[in-house]
Amino acid sequence: MRLPSFEHLEPRSLEEALGFLAKHKEQAKIIAGGTELLVCMKHGLLAPAYLVNLKAVRELDFVSEDDGGLRIGALTRLSTLSETPAVRERFPVVAQAAEMVAAPPLQAMGTVAGNLCLNTRCFYYNQSSFWRQARGACYKTGGDRCHVVKGGKRCLATYQGDIAPALIALGATLRMVSNGSEREIPLAELYTGKGRRPLALEPDEIVAEVRVPAPFDGMAGDYQKLRLRGSMDFPLAGAAAVLSRNGSGVCSRARVALTAVGTGPLVVEEATQLLEGQQVTEDLVAQAAEAAYEAARPASNVGSDASYRRKMVRVLTRRAILNAWRKE
Ligand SMILES: Cc1cc2nc3c(=O)[nH]c(=O)nc-3n(C[C@H](O)[C@H](O)[C@H](O)COP(=O)(O)OP(=O)(O)OC[C@H]3O[C@@H](n4cnc5c(N)ncnc54)[C@H](O)[C@@H]3O)c2cc1C
Repeated sequence: MRLPSFEHLEPRSLEEALGFLAKHKEQAKIIAGGTELLVCMKHGLLAPAYLVNLKAVRELDFVSEDDGGLRIGALTRLSTLSETPAVRERFPVVAQAAEMVAAPPLQAMGTVAGNLCLNTRCFYYNQSSFWRQARGACYKTGGDRCHVVKGGKRCLATYQGDIAPALIALGATLRMVSNGSEREIPLAELYTGKGRRPLALEPDEIVAEVRVPAPFDGMAGDYQKLRLRGSMDFPLAGAAAVLSRNGSGVCSRARVALTAVGTGPLVVEEATQLLEGQQVTEDLVAQAAEAAYEAARPASNVGSDASYRRKMVRVLTRRAILNAWRKE
């Protein structure tokens, strides 16, 4: 499979990168590590006329502590993220999730923003154009049908990023910049929940950094992932839990977020309601895991059967909550 032809633009600063995006808009695509984008281009899923390579924009490559929290530059490699002492010691759930992305060579190339901005995936979409021709276009490729659910009214392509659920459970926000403007949004709001167009990102906008607020007292987290091959695969389901325990042994804050069981990362609000203000018991954790099972809506379009993955959400959520609770 060959790459389609494109013009490669190499800005040296964020300002220059934004200038290229403002000029070329929908015709341009950002490339960071390229571990996802180039595969999609080889499959003929994307054919941007311009690639704006962020590699030389050093101002986007940093991890720093800020007011007790963290600032993570968009271009930070996943391996750098998981090796940074401040991340390992103060936000270990982030390092844990980053270490579970793909395999070490891909972690050394893949970046934080590239991971958060992953496209949704589907068995019928992530194929060569030759393969796809035989079935005709689906919603994701601009057609009028879904190959996963016959008669389906919308695209069910699945979001399978690993670090988003951990960062969402920590309450992370994103700093997004475009030519002349800037906004900060909760990370969860980056995701539209639409399989076809999963990101609320304008064509001329760059994710510049991730901000993680200071940890709450007695906070700990855990990320659990189901995948076919433990050595490198995307999640078939994933659950992150971040819990805080107060001095009386009561759960003062709880956030549970899932991945790979819908068109975007999913926050399990009911788990928060069940756990906060309570002594965390096995029974309560089982109820929270059941709530995650109820909320998850996997489709049979990535790796394995939807009902199995949904049942595993219960298991992964239970493990993540218990591990987080026992760590503190
Ligand atoms: C074999 C294989 C296994 C994989 N397994 C996993 C896995 O287990 N878990 C997982 O989460 N991922 C997995 N991936 C996907 C990918 O390797 C990682 O998610 C990686 O972190 C993507 O980062 P990147 O910098 O390479 O992204 P790129 O490919 O460079 O970009 C990905 C997308 O993000 C956009 N983008 C990049 N940076 C920015 C920015 N600053 N602002 C706005 N948009 C931006 C790009 O335009 C593109 O649309 C796998 C990939 C492969 C090939």
